[in-house]
Amino acid sequence: MNLHEYQGKQILNSFGVEIQRGIVAQTADEAVEAAKKLTEETGTGWHVIKAQVHAGGRGKGGGVKLAKSLDEVRDLAGQIIGMNLITPQTSAEGKKVHQVLIAEDVYYPGDSEPEEYYMSVLLDRGTGRNMIMYSTEGGMDIEAVAEETPHLIFTEEIDPAAGLLPFQARRIAFNLGLSGKAFKGMVKFVNALYTAYIKSDSSLFEINPVLKTSDDRVIAVDAKVTLDDNALYRHKDYVEMRDIREENPVEVEAKEVGLNYVDLDGNVGCMVNGAGLAMATMDLIKQAGGEPANFLDVGGTADAERVETAFNLILKDPNVKAILVNIFGGIVRCDRVAQGIVDAYTNMGNIEVPIIVRLQGTNADIAKELIDNSGLDVQSAIEFQEAADKVQAVLA
Ligand code: GDP
Ligand code: MN
Repeated sequence: MNLHEYQGKQILNSFGVEIQRGIVAQTADEAVEAAKKLTEETGTGWHVIKAQVHAGGRGKGGGVKLAKSLDEVRDLAGQIIGMNLITPQTSAEGKKVHQVLIAEDVYYPGDSEPEEYYMSVLLDRGTGRNMIMYSTEGGMDIEAVAEETPHLIFTEEIDPAAGLLPFQARRIAFNLGLSGKAFKGMVKFVNALYTAYIKSDSSLFEINPVLKTSDDRVIAVDAKVTLDDNALYRHKDYVEMRDIREENPVEVEAKEVGLNYVDLDGNVGCMVNGAGLAMATMDLIKQAGGEPANFLDVGGTADAERVETAFNLILKDPNVKAILVNIFGGIVRCDRVAQGIVDAYTNMGNIEVPIIVRLQGTNADIAKELIDNSGLDVQSAIEFQEAADKVQAVLA
């Protein structure tokens, strides 16, 4: 589950990670109130107005603005709330901004220049260990840093039994070129960050930038936090942070009815039982020249009602030009699934896109007969390749 910046910062702060302080606001009036309150707490008169959407690169898209007075807070918050924010990480349509974070300006002048670093904590699937990835090149697109100056990205691998060791946190501060108070601040920051990552059962923290202020404090200015869905049952308070406005509506609906659905960009809708078979089906569609429009695992019980729900979900995507149903009858019998498809189809009346059904396994031959004799515009196949060829034919 992804979180908003302000929620991620709340979690970080609850584990002692120093953050750029802020208050979330839904309206321009609330933004002004938030700014006043922050000025009382921090003494700063300048504030940044930050769009809260589940996408990075907000600064580039005009979703992060500096306000030097309360009037500017009101104006900028008014502009950003309700805007359609397009960033390098959103789709071309962008994302609607429902709320902004009013944050203290932490780039104030002082003895030294503020410095921006990059830091993330994540699971390295190669080693099966958590790792801290960090760089002196903060505030920019880390993919570009990796491409152009890979020697400026460092990693620290963490032994799961020993945890983050003191020398590792010191090495990070050293590699970032810090000394004195900032060095100590970074060591504390890294330790708190790693503790937060573990205790919150997160699968990704990305703090870009981590800021060394002009008076040598080390703080998180941005926070991208992804929680591990499988551990959410241990964090009731985090579950409430879910903002379904940020999620794909069809995926939300699928989740509610217990279907495993992921929306994709292509034109062939897929309905499959089993995640592995679903992946293989997507590969085959691609090989046949199509592009999968979704991943959909209907699971073990493909009865008429479930099949109908699945068809309805797939058909919500206007890009779908054909539907491939690929079911392996192991525990569930093919004829039962076939009957489910026929019933669902009959129930739904007119389905405009061609449907290709491939049923293999127990009672596959009876199932094929059922489909072929149904009088409905559904093509059947028994072999995987045959099904893919039929999909290609209807797309051509
Ligand atoms: P992102 O663009 O979505 O990654 O959003 P960030 O939270 O990283 O903010 C983008 C940029 O806004 C940062 O890299 C900073 O350059 C700038 N920014 C963030 N906070 C402040 C602040 O307090 N003062 C000033 N002057 N700039 C800030
Ligand atoms: Mn950022």
